[in-house]
Amino acid sequence: MAAGASGAEVLSARPAYDESVTADGPVTATVAEVAALLRAHGPALVLTGAGMSTESGIPDYRGPDGNRRVTPMSHQEFTATSEARQRYWARSFIGWQRFTAAEPNAGHLAVTDLQAAGVFGPVITQNVDGLHQEAGTREVTELHGSLAEVVCLTCGERVDRDLVQAFMDDANPGFASRALGSVPDGSQVSSQIRPDGDIVLADEAVRSFLAPRCLVCGDDTLKPDVVFFGGAVPRDRVDLCFSLTDEAPVLVVLGSSLKVMSGYRFVRRAAAHGIPVVVITRGPTRGDAETTHRIDASLGVTLSALAREVGERADRAG
Ligand SMILES: [Zn+2]
Repeated sequence: MAAGASGAEVLSARPAYDESVTADGPVTATVAEVAALLRAHGPALVLTGAGMSTESGIPDYRGPDGNRRVTPMSHQEFTATSEARQRYWARSFIGWQRFTAAEPNAGHLAVTDLQAAGVFGPVITQNVDGLHQEAGTREVTELHGSLAEVVCLTCGERVDRDLVQAFMDDANPGFASRALGSVPDGSQVSSQIRPDGDIVLADEAVRSFLAPRCLVCGDDTLKPDVVFFGGAVPRDRVDLCFSLTDEAPVLVVLGSSLKVMSGYRFVRRAAAHGIPVVVITRGPTRGDAETTHRIDASLGVTLSALAREVGERADRAG
């Protein structure tokens, strides 16, 4: 799919595709078959989605059936009013501690092993949690940005998320305990972390929250440097990912239903070039028609098995 004339793709949450093309379903494959494909073709381009991080305790926006479970704040909503930003930051302030406590899972570690073994190459991730890098994976492109950085929409000043967290901590003493205590079931609140670090919080708690301001221009327009739904992925980042796709011998999709065009377009591009497309995820995907090898299973177990398969063959060959 070509990028729009505006120079940036808008991240749309609304699928607009023909369900009928997936009627027959994709060809399913075994771990051994995928290992053989990867060994034969060399380092694959890897595209990862939210399903990659669910085993680290960061829930997917969608359930295994591919349907939306929660509605994330949109770019338009965030930029429209101070109240929306106050709500975002109050929730994010609470969610951040649990979000940063998340650690790479077996799937992330297997990706690092597969890259070291030479069968995985560069990684494009739609996730904003930094867990691939934490697991030691190299050449990671964060398609939708990173929650670790914050940018001022007014003056462009950039600041570490940790510093913003410290500012909010100073400005809102006791907020966390009050906010969590204001909802009857605190455990339910803390379980509602979303992939963008957002969290469900009562309105009355939000209204008392002092949102962070830019230290340079003073505006309340600080935004995590991630692409919200309805926001645009920077053009140079899209171009980089397309060129990685064009050069790839194989595309491997991990933990994504491909419902968002932002990632699906690379699958379309690969298929147009006749590049094999491997999809490992739970449940149906939008890319079934383009998929040449499909494994419907949990990522941690499957990728660990794939890493073992590749490693054992390398041992025998050596
Ligand atoms: Zn500013």
